[in-house]
Amino acid sequence: MTDTHTGGCVCGTVRYRVHGQPTLGTVCHCTYCQRRLASAFAVMASFPEPAVEITQGQLVECEHRSDVSGRWLRMAFCGKCGTTLCHTAEIRPGIRTIAAGTFDDPRWFRIDRHIWVQSKLPWVTIPEGVATYQQGFVAVPPADPAGAAKA
Ligand SMILES: [Zn+2]
Ligand SMILES: [Zn+2]
Repeated sequence: MTDTHTGGCVCGTVRYRVHGQPTLGTVCHCTYCQRRLASAFAVMASFPEPAVEITQGQLVECEHRSDVSGRWLRMAFCGKCGTTLCHTAEIRPGIRTIAAGTFDDPRWFRIDRHIWVQSKLPWVTIPEGVATYQQGFVAVPPADPAGAAKA
């Protein structure tokens, strides 16, 4: 099996290996990703959990609840240098998503879609031929106008 790619955190404590192609390559422009990465967007490669192996070091997890869906996201970091390496999400059981900037060669996989384009920064241009979604990939129930009036 040669279809293997490696990556790790900035300080080198945590290393991982993935097998096969990502099920999805995503750029996320949501305000949570912008804030948590102190950047403009997140670049993410999703894999079935068994395809991701942590080969060195230990991950520290931090749970976040989406203010839109109420579902959990568990971000995993290197406890030493703070690099975000991957996450799991309640909405996608069995999938582990790699923070793709941590690949030793981040160029190897394809981006299929851009999500949360509604909060994309104005100077980011999305290439043609890529699927775009104003919000998340899985339809979020439309805001209930009556909900705003509830306590
Ligand atoms: Zn580290
Ligand atoms: Zn996001």
